[in-house]
Amino acid sequence: MQPMTSDAVIAEVRTRTRRGRVGSCPFCHRELPLTFHHLIPKKLHRRTRFRKQFSREELNRGIDICRQCHDGIHDRYDEMTLYRDFDEPSKLAADPALARYFEWVARQKVR
Ligand SMILES: [Zn+2]
Ligand SMILES: [Zn+2]
Repeated sequence: MQPMTSDAVIAEVRTRTRRGRVGSCPFCHRELPLTFHHLIPKKLHRRTRFRKQFSREELNRGIDICRQCHDGIHDRYDEMTLYRDFDEPSKLAADPALARYFEWVARQKVR
């Protein structure tokens, strides 16, 4: 695990335990049901290389975020890019394109 940087822990990283939890999305800060985003994208888990390299716990590290922010992340970046460049929530928040998107999501009404 990486040391924490000064610019804020913006989301709690955990291994998946709960489903359909309602809470505050760390990116858009709206209160709504949250979905689980794997920091090592799920599609990569079945590859031998990943199964050898990471424990089940590491593979299942992730964050609770809302569906809309979640879709925006996967619309913009493919699995390999997410794995390489966005394996910590702070990196997702620091990406200019995503930051703009999250700001837009924050202004949307919860449906
Ligand atoms: Zn959100
Ligand atoms: Zn995801």
